[in-house]
Amino acid sequence: MSQSNDYSLAPFDLVLFGGTGDLAMRKLLPAMYFRHHEAQLPEDGRIICIARSDLSTEQFKAQMAESIHSHISKEFDESSWATFCDRIHYLGIDITVQEQYEKLNQLLAPHPDRVRVFYLSTAPGLFSRICRGVADAGLVTDNSRVALEKPLGRDLESAVAINDELADVFNEEQIYRIDHYLGKETVQNLMALRFGNYLFEPIWRREHISDIQITIAEQLGVESRADYYDQTGAMRDMVQNHLLQLLVILAMEPPVSIHPDAVRDEKIKVLRSLKPLVGRDVLDNTVRGQYSGGTVDGKPVTAYRESKGVAPSSFTETFVAIKAEIDSWRWQGVPFFLRTGKSLHERRTEIVVNFRNVPHSIFDMPRVPNRLIIRLQPEEIIKLQIFAKGRGDEMRLQSVNLDLDFNEAFEKRQMIAYERLLLDIIRGNQTLFNHRDEVTAAWSWIDPIIETWDQYQVEPTPYAAGSWGPPASSALIARNNCGWIEECL
Ligand code: NAP
Repeated sequence: MSQSNDYSLAPFDLVLFGGTGDLAMRKLLPAMYFRHHEAQLPEDGRIICIARSDLSTEQFKAQMAESIHSHISKEFDESSWATFCDRIHYLGIDITVQEQYEKLNQLLAPHPDRVRVFYLSTAPGLFSRICRGVADAGLVTDNSRVALEKPLGRDLESAVAINDELADVFNEEQIYRIDHYLGKETVQNLMALRFGNYLFEPIWRREHISDIQITIAEQLGVESRADYYDQTGAMRDMVQNHLLQLLVILAMEPPVSIHPDAVRDEKIKVLRSLKPLVGRDVLDNTVRGQYSGGTVDGKPVTAYRESKGVAPSSFTETFVAIKAEIDSWRWQGVPFFLRTGKSLHERRTEIVVNFRNVPHSIFDMPRVPNRLIIRLQPEEIIKLQIFAKGRGDEMRLQSVNLDLDFNEAFEKRQMIAYERLLLDIIRGNQTLFNHRDEVTAAWSWIDPIIETWDQYQVEPTPYAAGSWGPPASSALIARNNCGWIEECL
C-alpha cells in the first residue's frame, strides 16, 4: 500500500513509553519543545509520558524541567516552556500489567480520531509487551503509529520475531523503525548533494571513485551502559544500523521520486547487493578490537575489561573495521571501509569519498586524489578537496577545500535529529525510517560475520584508549593500497 503525499501536521497524542528515561529527557522531549517553541506543533497535540515511577503530572513536569534545562539551557524560554508544559501528561503505570492500560485508555478515549503515536523508548525486551498491551486494550486505531528505538533484535532470528509481533498489531505503514542518523541534516544533504546536482551523479561510480571510508569514532567508553553493551558489542550496536545506513545512502541508485516507497526500494537493493562475508573472508576482511587502558583527551581511561559491569574475560568488541563490497555494476571493485569504535582518539563521524588519481600528472608533486568529505559530527560540514596553484613564481599545486559549513550557510539553528523524525512520524512520512526488509537484509549480512568470529574464536585485538584502533585496522586498509584519513581535513 502506498502512502499519501499529504504530510501536514494533524492534532496528535504522542504516547511516550519510557518517559522518564535517558533518551526521553536528553533528546525526545527537548526535540518536541523546540518545535513547540517555534510554533510548529498544532494546538491540539498532547505528549503523554509513561513510566513506572509514582509521580503526579506536576512532579513529572518539575523533574522534566530540571533535566531538560541542563541539556538545553541556552535555548530555554520561560514563556514557551510554560505553554509546552500544558501539553504534557504523566501516567505512572507498569506496562507489563494489562489492567493498567485502562488508565491510558481513559486519557486517549476522548480523542479517537487524533493521530496516535506509540513511541517505544524502553528496553527492547518490552517492545512486544507494549504492542500487545495497546492492542488488547483496544487503543490501536487506523490513525495509530508505532515508533521503535534501536536495537531491533540481536540477530536475524530475533529481529524477524520482533517484526512478526509488530505485524500482528500494526501494518507496515504504521511502523516507524528509527535510526536517528537518518534524521541528521548532513545525511539528508547527502541525498540532496547526490540527486539535486548534476555534477556528482556522472562520477559517482567505480570508474571515478577508488574507495569510500565511513568512520563513526567515539571518545566515550562503555560508561554506565556495560549491562547493555557487554551483551551487544560494536557490530550490533553501530555497524548493523548506523554504519550500514550511511553506506546505503552513499551507494543507492537514484530513486524515481522522493516518495518513501521509492527511496526505501533503492536502499533495500543496496543491502541485498552487499557481497556476503563468510568463513575465511571474514577473517581477511574484518578487524575486531577492544580498548585497553590509555588516555583520551588528556584523561586516563580504564581498560574495557576492567570497567564496572564488564566480565574480566569479555570477548565483546568495542571496535570494528570492515572492508565491504557491493556486487553491482556501479560499485564492482570499490571497497567501502567501515570502522567504528569506543575510546578512540577523537569524536568524529565522517565519510570520505576518494576519487581516482589523475591518470598522468604533469606537475612535480605526489599524486593525491580529490576527496569529498562529509562530516556529520561534531560539526556538520561538506568539503570538496581539490588542487590549485599556490601563490608565487613556482607552479606548485596545493590542496584547498571548497567548504559548505551548515552553520555559516544557513541561518536556522542546527536541529537535533529527533525533531525531524518525531514530526515525520506525526505527519506519516516514512522516508527516513527503516522498512522491515531493510532490517532483515542488514542482519542477513551481519549474522555470518558474528558467527564466524564465534566459530574461529576470534578474540578482539587490544588497542590503546585514545588511539585510532588496533594496528590491524590500518593493515586491513593498507592491503588495499589505501589508508584511513585521520588528520582533520
Ligand atoms: P532508560 O534510561 O533505561 O529508560 C527506560 C524507561 O523505561 C524509563 O522511563 C523507565 O521508567 C521505563 N520503564 C522500564 N520498565 C517499565 C515498565 N515495566 N513499565 C513502565 N515503564 C517502564 O533507557 P534509555 O536510555 O532512555 O533507552 C530507551 C530506548 O532507546 C532503548 O531501547 C535504547 O536501546 C534506545 N536508545 C537509547 C539511546 C540513548 O542515548 N539513551 C540512544 C539510542 C537508542 P521507570 O524506571 O520509572 O519505570
